[in-house]
Amino acid sequence: MLNRRQFFSAATAGAAMLARGPKAFAAAKHDLIIKGGRVIDPSVRLDAVRDVAISGGRIAAFEPSIAEEATETLDARGKLVVPGLLDIHTHCGRFPTGPGLVLQDGVTGWVDAGSKGADAIGDTIAIARSSPQLGRVLINIGRAGILPEGDTMDLARADVAAAKEAISKNLDFIVGVKARLSRDVAGENDYEVLRRAQEVATSFNLPVMIHMGQTISPIGKLMDLLKRGDIVTHLFAPPPNSIIDDGGHILPEVLAARRRGVWFDVGNGQTGHMRWDTIGAIMKTGFWPDTFSTDWNVNAHETGVIDLPNCMSKLFGYGMTVNEAITRATCNASRIFPFLNDRGTLNAGAPADVAILELRKGNFEFLDNFKGKITGHQRLFPSATVLAGKVAPRS
Ligand SMILES: [Zn+2]
Repeated sequence: MLNRRQFFSAATAGAAMLARGPKAFAAAKHDLIIKGGRVIDPSVRLDAVRDVAISGGRIAAFEPSIAEEATETLDARGKLVVPGLLDIHTHCGRFPTGPGLVLQDGVTGWVDAGSKGADAIGDTIAIARSSPQLGRVLINIGRAGILPEGDTMDLARADVAAAKEAISKNLDFIVGVKARLSRDVAGENDYEVLRRAQEVATSFNLPVMIHMGQTISPIGKLMDLLKRGDIVTHLFAPPPNSIIDDGGHILPEVLAARRRGVWFDVGNGQTGHMRWDTIGAIMKTGFWPDTFSTDWNVNAHETGVIDLPNCMSKLFGYGMTVNEAITRATCNASRIFPFLNDRGTLNAGAPADVAILELRKGNFEFLDNFKGKITGHQRLFPSATVLAGKVAPRS
């Protein structure tokens, strides 16, 4: 027997079904509902348990509880539900399997940062073009791309005309210019290589990304060539020529660059880019990165990189909160490149790119690029990825 209250709710539900008619009844209202996760979306200042409904590849709603029908539901109880992660410094364009692998890490948008130059930019663009998620490339100012003997050790390789021609033919996929400036990449040419990269980039109104650290020129001198919207990757690079002096002060030229709108990115990588003591000193000053990035290569899982959620977890021990880390891997990154402007958010109407992460507590070992280990007590793990409203398969 139904009691009075159950009777009324059953009657109301029946009336609602009838009102929608037989045709509407056949199709579920939503394609997917992600149920019961802790939704952290810094773009709308949300951190609360919510259901997220997706229809037609876009976010339809997030509410404390969504009772409407969906073709598919994903149980996210106990997990974090965040906008799809954006990784602005990868080498996904070097490997046909790259985009699919980082998709499993929760990455729904990536930038290949200068794997190739003008001579073979078509190779990275082909991978970006066939990528399941959004992928774009930075053209290396060195026309041969990354070279073991140094991209621009021979200054003639920093070929302005060749880079300009490549960009003009590929404006839909080239989103900036990369200048790698370490002494083993550019040698004494660092300043001139950056000047040429800037000449190319400004003529297309594009940003330059510099790879800093262990340069011959002082970092302050290089900073002076950077304009609003440019990106400095490897901000935690240890001396020589780190962003911090021996007295623990961020260099004035670096502070000035941030004030005029230059972005500072992690670029975890594998060699020379991060060492715990430098990270500790920089974090202590409050000069925190704007974005996280992996500097991903196909061997990432066998190195200290592992995946973007792991790289994000490395700063929890230096005072960064989970929310602050997610901000940097979602909405901050979405502001840097126009092709990402409508990503990094779960706001209603946005493309339904979602990362489902697990925040585990325990003891976790994190590596820098110098075999240094620290133990942290929280780590993010990728759990599932939703791309354009569809749950991505996991291998
Ligand atoms: Zn790189």
